[in-house]
Amino acid sequence: MEKIEVLNIELDNYTKEELLIELLESVKNNRKRFLVTANPEIIMMARQNPEFAGAIQSADYVVPDGIGLIIGSRIIGHPLKERIPGVELVEELLKISDENNLAVYFYGAKPEVLKRLLDSVNKKYPGIRVAGSSDGYTSSPEAVAKQIESKSPDIVFVAMGAPKQEEWIYRHFKNYSKGIFVGVGGSFDVLSG
Ligand code: UDP
Repeated sequence: MEKIEVLNIELDNYTKEELLIELLESVKNNRKRFLVTANPEIIMMARQNPEFAGAIQSADYVVPDGIGLIIGSRIIGHPLKERIPGVELVEELLKISDENNLAVYFYGAKPEVLKRLLDSVNKKYPGIRVAGSSDGYTSSPEAVAKQIESKSPDIVFVAMGAPKQEEWIYRHFKNYSKGIFVGVGGSFDVLSG
């Protein structure tokens, strides 16, 4: 797929639909993928933070979440097809997981937010196999990484905000044999209530 450079970051030029088709294909083939949803703020952050920059560069997909990147791509004459907001991506991946009985791990947010989110997921998406969950404050990041390794889920949502979520994925990604790993910022807060 075509890449478009905006603010020195190569962005993947997908529609949400195209991206979802490819991600489901990856899951079905037991591949592992690291996906970053980018906005101008995180690109600026990466300029100051080498580990974060390394994480973004290592990702299999970097897609535009912020409208600023879409506007930027138009200004330079290489328009990105569309914005792919993190929250919408989570919702679509939950739908796909429900339809395909995928195993999903939820990592991040405050304990009470995570609990509300899981209650809602269990009700709304009964086909999802919840492989496990950890809030983003009380568990050790290393212990969570090990738990995910033993469960080998199809999708891992990491909701701790940038750069924490991408750095955590970057640090542990090599230990996994499969799974879609995606940093989803405040999505659990939005979807839990
Ligand atoms: N968070 C977390 N652990 C932390 C810091 C933040 O789990 O150590 C969670 C926080 O509770 C919220 C999310 O990460 O659910 C960050 O949301 P924010 O809106 O700041 O992220 P953005 O969407 O702006 O990247």
